[in-house]
Amino acid sequence: MRTDATNEAEQLDWLVRELRSDMRKLPKRRQLTGAARHAQELFETNAARLPSGHLACGAGCASCCNAHVGVEMAEAFVILEYLRRTRSDDTVDDLLARTAARASEVAGLDPATRWAARVPCIFLDPDAGTCTIYEARPLACRGYNSTNRDACEAMAASGDTKDGIPADGERLGRSRLLRQALARVTALSVGSEAAAEHFELHTAVTGAAEAGEALAWQRKMRGKTKG
Ligand code: SF4
Ligand code: SF4
Repeated sequence: MRTDATNEAEQLDWLVRELRSDMRKLPKRRQLTGAARHAQELFETNAARLPSGHLACGAGCASCCNAHVGVEMAEAFVILEYLRRTRSDDTVDDLLARTAARASEVAGLDPATRWAARVPCIFLDPDAGTCTIYEARPLACRGYNSTNRDACEAMAASGDTKDGIPADGERLGRSRLLRQALARVTALSVGSEAAAEHFELHTAVTGAAEAGEALAWQRKMRGKTKG
């Protein structure tokens, strides 16, 4: 991320320009997923420069994977592509069917109710406590890093979210800014602010699977705007 930008608005503008400039180098059908991947890479490069000794997260710890996760549609297509690249067709079909069922299960639950209901993310390996799409996980997951595992576990046990996860503010702030940039880039690519909407993770992946690919989704959204 740009380090000489003096405020968040400048950072956001710079990120939007950076993502759009990178997108133009790609064929149209790969532009939106390319922007999402680029945003995720920017997050990782930037986060790697931050101090990390205070972070409590690690493999096998996954209480947070019962939380509501909001994503941009571009990131849902990254997940879809990743699944298709790394799993057999039958496995992907089965996983997408379970993702759609999970989307219905959590539809309409606000984040606090969702947390208390303890409905795990479909991409969590519950035995290992690891993310099965780690490489393609969305910015919201990348940005959530706790400084106190006991607090996460206490919150999971009580189902009470009032104190929140004691998240590392730097990483959380950067992931949020990148999500905003990605949402703005998506809206610009479609020509409609409606395309900037954030979706619940399972709902977004189900929508991505229904559209088939990002370009088809962009055309559908553009058609809605004109209609
Ligand atoms: S946010 Fe909390 S529950 Fe999630 S991996 Fe980090 S320490 Fe574990
Ligand atoms: S995508 Fe991965 S990291 Fe994010 S909630 Fe699901 S299992 Fe956890």
